[in-house]
Amino acid sequence: MKCINETKFNFPAKSTNEAFARSAVAAFIMQLDPTISELADIKTSVSEAVTNSIVHGYKGQGGTIYITVQIFENGVVSIKIRDKGCGIEDIEKAMEPLFTTGGDERAGLGFAVMQSFMDSIRVSSKPLKGTTVTLKKKIIKNDP
Ligand code: ATP
Ligand code: MG
Repeated sequence: MKCINETKFNFPAKSTNEAFARSAVAAFIMQLDPTISELADIKTSVSEAVTNSIVHGYKGQGGTIYITVQIFENGVVSIKIRDKGCGIEDIEKAMEPLFTTGGDERAGLGFAVMQSFMDSIRVSSKPLKGTTVTLKKKIIKNDP
C-alpha cells in the first residue's frame, strides 16, 4: 500500500514530553478526520509506548525517542515509536498481560492496552540495541 504522507520527529526521553508526543501524533492524524474515539485510542497507545521507552528502555536516564507517523492510501495510520535503550530479552513474555519488570509501580498492561486499542502492534527489539513498536490503525472514512 502506498504511503501518501509522513512525519518524523524526535525528542528527549522525559515524561514531560509525553503529552507533546501524543498530541503531535494526533495533530498529524487530524487530516483523516478521525472520530474522538479513534483519536483517544491512538493517543493512549502512543502514550503507553512512549512511557515504556522512558521508564524501561532508558530506565529514566534519558536518551532520544524517535517517532515516525505514516498515512497510507487506504486510510491506515502507522506509528513507529523507537528507542535506543536496553531492549527486551523475551518479547513474547513482555507482551503478556500483567507481565512487568517494573515492580509494584507498574500493572504490566501497557502492551495489552495498545493491543486492544489498535488494529495491530509489532514489537522488534534487541537487547542493548533498543526497541521499536509499530502500531497500526485504519481510520474509517466517514461520509460528510
Ligand atoms: P504498565 O504499562 O501497566 O505501567 P509495564 O510498562 O510494565 O506496566 P507493559 O507496558 O505491558 O507493562 O510492558 C511490559 C514489559 O515489557 C515492561 O515491564 C518491560 O519489561 C518491557 N518493555 C516494554 N517496553 C520496553 C522498552 N521500550 N524497552 C525495554 N523494555 C520494555
Ligand atoms: Mg508500560
